[in-house]
Amino acid sequence: MPALEIRLHGRGGQGGVTCAKIIAAVYAELGKSVQTFGDYSGERSGAPVRAYTRVSDDPISNRNKVYDPDHLLVLDPTLLSDEVVQGLQPGGTLLLATSAPMESFVGRFEAFRLALIDATAIARRHKIGTRSVIIVNTTVAGAFVKALGLPLSALEHAYQHLGLLSNFAAAREAYEGVQVREPIGLEQRVAVPAAAVPAARPDVLPLTEHRDGPQPPLKTGNWRTQTPKYSSYLAPCSAWCPAGNDVIGFVQALAQKDEKAAAAILANTTPLAGVCGRVCPAPCMEGCNRREYDGAVNIRGLERWIADHGEVVLPVVTKHATPRRFAILGGGPAGLAAAQTLARAGHDATIFDGEAALGGVLRTGIPTYRLPREVLDREVGAVLALGVKTALGAFLDREQLASLPGEFDAVILATGLQKLRGLDGPGADLAGVQQGIRFLHHINLDGAARIGGHVVVLGGGNTAMDCARSALRAGAERVTVAYRRGADEMPAIAEEVEEARHEGVAFVFLRAPLGFVGEGGRVRGVELAEVELGEADDSGRRRPVVTDKRSVLECDAVLLALGQSAELSLLPAGWELREGRVHQGGVPLAVFAAGDVSTGDGTVTHAIGDGKRAAGRAMAALGLDVTPFARPDRAIAVPATDIRFDHFATSAAVRESLETPAARVRTFDEVSHGLADGLEAHRCFSCGECTKCDTCLVFCPEGIIRRKDAAYEVDYSYCKGCGICVKECPRKGMEMTAV
Ligand code: SF4
Ligand code: SF4
Ligand code: SF4
Repeated sequence: MPALEIRLHGRGGQGGVTCAKIIAAVYAELGKSVQTFGDYSGERSGAPVRAYTRVSDDPISNRNKVYDPDHLLVLDPTLLSDEVVQGLQPGGTLLLATSAPMESFVGRFEAFRLALIDATAIARRHKIGTRSVIIVNTTVAGAFVKALGLPLSALEHAYQHLGLLSNFAAAREAYEGVQVREPIGLEQRVAVPAAAVPAARPDVLPLTEHRDGPQPPLKTGNWRTQTPKYSSYLAPCSAWCPAGNDVIGFVQALAQKDEKAAAAILANTTPLAGVCGRVCPAPCMEGCNRREYDGAVNIRGLERWIADHGEVVLPVVTKHATPRRFAILGGGPAGLAAAQTLARAGHDATIFDGEAALGGVLRTGIPTYRLPREVLDREVGAVLALGVKTALGAFLDREQLASLPGEFDAVILATGLQKLRGLDGPGADLAGVQQGIRFLHHINLDGAARIGGHVVVLGGGNTAMDCARSALRAGAERVTVAYRRGADEMPAIAEEVEEARHEGVAFVFLRAPLGFVGEGGRVRGVELAEVELGEADDSGRRRPVVTDKRSVLECDAVLLALGQSAELSLLPAGWELREGRVHQGGVPLAVFAAGDVSTGDGTVTHAIGDGKRAAGRAMAALGLDVTPFARPDRAIAVPATDIRFDHFATSAAVRESLETPAARVRTFDEVSHGLADGLEAHRCFSCGECTKCDTCLVFCPEGIIRRKDAAYEVDYSYCKGCGICVKECPRKGMEMTAV
């Protein structure tokens, strides 16, 4: 059933809004979806009131007022005017509460079914209201039910539920007494049964088709102390993204089915959307307000979907009038982001990297089942397409590094975390004990590394998960991860841990490695101490306290994934890294640190953000006109408490489909197939950004919010500052501000 729309005009005190509610209740009794709300011009007796009822077989999402009603009720004949009947469909029912006879309407309203009822006389006879104010709403509802061909029993049940049964006798009298004149000169509408309704119309009117209702007659004056203002506020997803992505921007563009715009928004802030859409720990999803309702929007999945499907149009780069020359050491995410920022600003950037191809840890450390190399190559290629030069295949020594500031205007150090934490226990030099990063390096670059037997991985971060899952694929019979804290404290991405478990990786928690036991020079076991968790440390995780309880976990190989840090011994003598800049003898050099070497954050998204920031600092230090990238302030982001969850239907987040565990452990092919489409974007609340949903307009009790030029305008001469529009806005698209 397409939506049936009913509008009611009355005056404050006549119970018009309740009448609309009764009509909705009757249709609800008949199994329909209903919606009803009022619209006041002044909350005082006698002031004009409008009320609306919608009826449909389907859930109703249209929140507009009713502009073209199928049926119209007028509770006070003095309100009757051409303006009041405006929009009523020809053949629609005009029900008028009046004592005037039908003959007095000869030549008037002939296009409509005219229904008349002397509701005041009936309500007075039944003593509904007071001596001075007769309330006609329940009586009129009886006439409406008859005029529309609805069953009287449905009205009786509705009155029962609404506690209005004492008014039913008056309704029945109106039901029996209503006079109806069929339309004249039109093909007559049959008395409309519940299912016979006019043609469907769009759910929500496009902005350009909006029509205003009549102006309320009562100005509210200037006694208000606050007025509503439309504005934009920072969405938490954008505030939480360390890379500085305009998350709400690309998600909302996708929700509007504008994939091209979504891709352009992403390309504007990150060189590595396809990479982050696969391997980012997604702090944006931690910040997402929908997390507090029914699960965060799958932002990472959407980022990947856009990167893989959107047509990325790279911005045209204009050469700077006096381009500067920048050397970037390291072709990982920080170096690539710095290079992109500098090249886009029209400068010359050259990336130095010891590997044969750019990508850094993305190429050497992250296995292909998480990040296919075509994706990395595609995104590296887009950076190079900006004119970035490379010098690959040889690591610079200290001397070469020391000479760079003389050859370039500025240098950016993006060398990552090169120092690998080992274990200074007995047996550390036994064959079969190796750094996990080196193992991954072999797997990723040589592709031929094999490992066998029972492999123990020590650590609980993403490198540990990569080692464990790669070991399975490289021939290990079984793999056990031993971690010194509990499962909840593991820093690895939760999905990675879950996928590792599904593939058969075993975990032992609260075990700290002390050393290794061997036989014939080869490792045969790891000595582990049981751990108890103490007070929280600086990272907020509970500190592991090693106990005297020991055991040996037998194994054939051990991969160490105990952490990494910056290797500053690679710096030339006298260079000192302080707050992201290199100093020599207390004097700052034009050498800036980017990413992990400076921050130690250890994620791709942090590295991208810091690479952009370092490039900005370097340009600013050379006196260039730049707006350095600054991470948005999370503290000012729209909190979940400002989102009206009750305006949104619950829906579970859409997740990526995965290859089956049995099939995936046999190859290094990508495990995740990604999202099938971009529909997940529709779950986004659009926190802090108005979506033109009309809710404020509909809920304004004064009816003085209007659409204007694809935006909204509040007529402040009628605004009483009640703030209902602001309270009802589902997403904080407006706010009350002091007058
Ligand atoms: S880079 Fe990471 S944090 Fe930023 S939007 Fe993408 S998934 Fe979220
Ligand atoms: S609901 Fe949308 S706008 Fe709000 S935080 Fe989540 S992704 Fe961002
Ligand atoms: S209620 Fe809707 S139209 Fe009004 S400000 Fe909020 S989002 Fe925008």
